[in-house]
Amino acid sequence: MKQTLTVALVGNPNSGKTTIFNNLTGARQHVGNYPGVTVESKEGTCRYNGTEIKFVDLPGTYSLTAYSADELVARRFIIHEKPDVIVDIIDSSNLERNLYLTVQLMELGVPLVLAFNMSDQAGKRGFAIDTDKLSTLLDAPIVSTVGHKGKGMNELLEAVVASAESAPKEREPFTLDYGREVEEEITNITSLLGKNGSLPEEYDPRWLATKLLENDRDVASMIGSPKVNDQVDKSAARIEKIVGEHPETSIAGSRYGYISGACQESVRSTIEIRHTISDKIDTVVVNRILGIPIFLGLMYLVFQLTFTLGGPFMDWLDQFFGWLGVTVAGWWPVGS
Ligand code: GDP
Ligand code: MG
Repeated sequence: MKQTLTVALVGNPNSGKTTIFNNLTGARQHVGNYPGVTVESKEGTCRYNGTEIKFVDLPGTYSLTAYSADELVARRFIIHEKPDVIVDIIDSSNLERNLYLTVQLMELGVPLVLAFNMSDQAGKRGFAIDTDKLSTLLDAPIVSTVGHKGKGMNELLEAVVASAESAPKEREPFTLDYGREVEEEITNITSLLGKNGSLPEEYDPRWLATKLLENDRDVASMIGSPKVNDQVDKSAARIEKIVGEHPETSIAGSRYGYISGACQESVRSTIEIRHTISDKIDTVVVNRILGIPIFLGLMYLVFQLTFTLGGPFMDWLDQFFGWLGVTVAGWWPVGS
């Protein structure tokens, strides 16, 4: 194995990426900017069992589209720099939303280690995650961590090194079934891309075709073929006509469907029905039979309180203005 590993940290904003990056690299950090953009680039190193590991803290992203500079930077780094391992930091108390990025990383076919961070919060919210099962379903090792307490850092490093030792740098991309109509159009676009000849070799044709259907401007300009663009427009129109939604929406829906299925098999709630205090009050006061009497009773109470508590104040005010009237009247000349 190589003596120096390059490991990229990716994840949704606020999933604890920087916290974990700081835990792992301590003071051995370097902050700069990615060439051409004002997106911060942070690198740091760490030594684990004789292996030197270089960590790169990529910008936080929810997705790998081309909508923001952050997402483009993260995606380009992963595709072009080919890190040995990608550590996806997941807020496991918000699992399904965070796994949207994970599925896209799986589709890219990169060596992944999943850090289920915020596992303290997940526990408090009553989620019991069967990480063994989920790890099998997603085909990636999962390490539970609590970033701000430094929990799980050694296990994370161990998983990173093990993954670099065992996994080939480019593994088979995960193929998600997008449904018949979308799949047909992906095949049409892929075969046209194949005839095009000069495809950038870092990219998987299916991934490119999917991105084109998702209306990804960065990929479209990289391919730069009017013929391909025509096909993509036609394909998108056909999908919209049959499925009734934009290809982008339909593709995102398939990804979420897959995530929801995986979570149903591996996550359960340890708290049967979580009644908060306000839920308990609601069940009584908005009750179909008791609701109106309770409402009228409360209004009567407000009315009574206003007059009983307000009574003495009203008397004081009355006396004060009576006194003021008499006093001021005394200042005026008699008869005016
Ligand atoms: P980033 O946006 O992904 O870089 O997230 P940060 O590292 O800045 O962390 C966001 C916040 O979450 C900070 O206040 C951290 O202290 C906190 N945090 C990080 N890891 C954990 C964790 O495992 N559990 C809890 N409860 N908080 C965490
Ligand atoms: Mg950060």
